[in-house]
Amino acid sequence: MKRLVILGAGESGVGAALLGQQKGWSVFVSDRGTIEREHENELRNLGIQLESGQHSMDQILQADLIIKSPGIPSHVPVIAQARQAGIAIVSEIEFASRYTDAVLIAVTGSNGKTTTATWIYDILKTAGFDAALAGNIGFGFSRLLSLNDPKYIVLEVSSFQLEDIKSFHPHIAVITNITPDHLDRYNYDFSQYVAAKMKISANQTQKDFLIFDADDLATQEALKASPITVSQLPFSTNKVLNHGTYNQDNQIFFHSKKKPLMPISELKLEGQHNVKNAMAAATVANLLRVRKQFIRESLQNFHGVEHRMEQVLKINKVQYINDSKATNVNATYYALQSMKSPTVWIVGGLDKGNDYTELFPIVFEKVKAIVCLGVDNKKIVESFGSIVKVISDTQCMTEAVRMAYQFAEPGDSVLLSPACASFDLFEDYEDRGRQFKDAVRQL
Ligand code: ADP
Repeated sequence: MKRLVILGAGESGVGAALLGQQKGWSVFVSDRGTIEREHENELRNLGIQLESGQHSMDQILQADLIIKSPGIPSHVPVIAQARQAGIAIVSEIEFASRYTDAVLIAVTGSNGKTTTATWIYDILKTAGFDAALAGNIGFGFSRLLSLNDPKYIVLEVSSFQLEDIKSFHPHIAVITNITPDHLDRYNYDFSQYVAAKMKISANQTQKDFLIFDADDLATQEALKASPITVSQLPFSTNKVLNHGTYNQDNQIFFHSKKKPLMPISELKLEGQHNVKNAMAAATVANLLRVRKQFIRESLQNFHGVEHRMEQVLKINKVQYINDSKATNVNATYYALQSMKSPTVWIVGGLDKGNDYTELFPIVFEKVKAIVCLGVDNKKIVESFGSIVKVISDTQCMTEAVRMAYQFAEPGDSVLLSPACASFDLFEDYEDRGRQFKDAVRQL
């Protein structure tokens, strides 16, 4: 029996263990930290060997194949030793992809992955396709395959998961955009991060498709520099393309069709970034020959994903919006850009090396008051102090919402769009978003 060692017991690691066991591997899971109770129980119930709090090298070096969870950087000693021993190391999506013949649609990018992947899935379901959604959302890819093998799988994949692929081969790849994020994992070198994203196309051929934002400079440059052979299908919100999907007179067009798909004003989701996400999703659906009527139906009805510009409540004619998933500056830029009324902005958290200068004009235009919510708010206060007159500061969500309530007047909006990670005060962005919604409901 071949031996599979899985490093990291999060959702993807546990899923890989389940699939590995099903496919006849002898599985060992090793996590240097603590393993969540639920995950541990799941593994134990199946009799899968595991350890936590350490990596036992004697066990690990017996592997025929190692799966590295996306949270583990590639420079750590356990990986270096395994490489030195000549053991193949792959990511979980690589492993899972070896066990399915489904049509894979993989979505990556700095922002908009979840929204776009979920939207593609929504269109396919609307059209009655045998489709599933997996990856960074909900079920990991391996867990999905351990339960079911649908015909179409929409996968959200991060740059970390793409780092260790060998033959992973989506028929359709989408890169939503590439802007600086997670640079700590890429030696603060943007080009390394771009290269990781471009790997989504590494094994694609001319019969496959890459859908990308033609308005995004970093993607354009990366494509020019990379040797890929895939068929390229761009989308653009601001120019007419002779190939791809574009906006003309505020209508969405596919280049191959004379008649527009639909007016942009009919999209249920607001904001320029969602026009882009809709175009990406519609382009995928068009490639898969989904009937226009179903694409339109989904674009008109899809109301987005929790914690992404989620409309929470209107209180005293003030709209409260939860955009907790905005964990970098670019995501917040689009959030602010889509605001149609004076905005009280709740921002802050764990700074990943943010450069706030690109937000200055949009903050000046849209924001009337700022509530900083983080352990260390100094950089935000310093950055925006001269642009926005009203700035307050707290480390408590309930207080942040109360402050925002005080600053807002009828007709305004209160927007939680932190531009930062959540781990200084919250478990994760979902916890932050839920606490925001609870605090709003208690006003
Ligand atoms: P991801 O899965 O890549 O993190 P999400 O769909 O969860 O992306 O959205 C994350 C944040 O990014 C949200 O706050 C949303 O407002 C913003 N966003 C969504 N789509 C885009 C886009 N195409 N460009 C820039 N920002 C976006």
